[in-house]
Amino acid sequence: MKVQDLNLESLVETAMRRIPGGVSTNIRLLEGPQKLIVKRAFGSRVWTVDDRELVDFVCGYGTVLLGYGFPALTQRQSEILGHGISYNATNPFEIEAADRLLNIFPDYDMVRFGVTGSEATTAAIGLSRIVTERSAIAVFRNHYHGWHGPTNAPRTVFTPPGNLPVPEVPVFEIPFNDTQVCADFFHRHGDSLACVIFEIVMINGGGFEPAPEFIRLLHEARDRHGFLLIADEVITGFRVGLRGAQKKYGVCPDLTVFGKALGGGVPIGAVLGRKAHMELFASGKAVHAGTFNGHPLATASAAFILDYLAANEQAVYSHLEKAAGRLKLGLVRAARNAGATCHVRGAGAVMCLEVEDEFGCPADSVQVFQDELLARGVRIALGGRWFVGLAHGEQEVEAAVSAAEAAFGALKNREHILQIAQQ
Ligand code: PMP
Repeated sequence: MKVQDLNLESLVETAMRRIPGGVSTNIRLLEGPQKLIVKRAFGSRVWTVDDRELVDFVCGYGTVLLGYGFPALTQRQSEILGHGISYNATNPFEIEAADRLLNIFPDYDMVRFGVTGSEATTAAIGLSRIVTERSAIAVFRNHYHGWHGPTNAPRTVFTPPGNLPVPEVPVFEIPFNDTQVCADFFHRHGDSLACVIFEIVMINGGGFEPAPEFIRLLHEARDRHGFLLIADEVITGFRVGLRGAQKKYGVCPDLTVFGKALGGGVPIGAVLGRKAHMELFASGKAVHAGTFNGHPLATASAAFILDYLAANEQAVYSHLEKAAGRLKLGLVRAARNAGATCHVRGAGAVMCLEVEDEFGCPADSVQVFQDELLARGVRIALGGRWFVGLAHGEQEVEAAVSAAEAAFGALKNREHILQIAQQ
């Protein structure tokens, strides 16, 4: 079989027969091959195998900040490919990327590179267990830190007053931004915690920003109970400013995890920490391994991205802020014009859209909206997430807003029909 000879129908059929769900990650199940198969991307656009051109706000799920196929980055990557890539030794590119990254985050001394965000959060949590000689961890409800590793172990949901049956290696789940419940939780369990890991902005759970008193509580609890605070900036890193969401919201984590945008579309993950902690990797007490870790293509791409962002910080982030701000206002207006209500939350170049549903079917409203947008040539990410990049100018924002208005209209129409059917 030669894929290039197949038509759309047989590609979909083969994908569904050969790959579970037709996708290589469950995250894409709702946007499987029946909806689109992408063959090419450039700038703010992707092209499907049936030659649809889509305005794309997925940006590789947040990995692409400068636009697909950014010429100078592509050129750098081609050079690296030309030198042979997987020689599995310390290489100049990883040293360069480490140095660039730590210059931007001077509170940290060292960095370990891996391949994915999931692995980086796993390594950071493992390190916290070695540092503290404790096993319990706390995660927040509706925060996501990857598909494998400790945050996917069974969770004990903390509900005060908390006489919890505590499992052997507990993973506690606590509510984000709920200072009262979290204070109670830390009072009861803080001394048993190796770490608290969190998304500074809850992008995987609706885009809520952290309250200042909540950040204060996390810092105080960390100082009092001696656990490590791990900031998961896999999504917010380099999207919410060059110095991440930690700078914007005044968070001082012990460890920070990056991924996605750091690699400019090439798989990467990174854990940053202070020397006293990170040297436990060097002594072998903390485990971190991987055939592809520190890969030249990924680290050279990261070094390029960091250089580019540092050299053009003002221009890049004011562009992103402007584009995201216009998009946000436009979406709210589009919903209003169509007689619907939506909430747009987030920070910097990532935002989450929630459709308010007056007719009692909120669970799939965002998915229907997303499908309606796709039918009108605009692609957004799972759960109503919009990733904005440098390639999004006025034209793309306007295209998105007018498609959104029609999609909100279609959603309203559907709700109206459902309402009649329910009567
Ligand atoms: N942390 C956060 C906040 C994420 O959103 C994700 C993935 N979207 C991950 C970690 C895991 O990253 P990866 O998919 O690269 O393993």
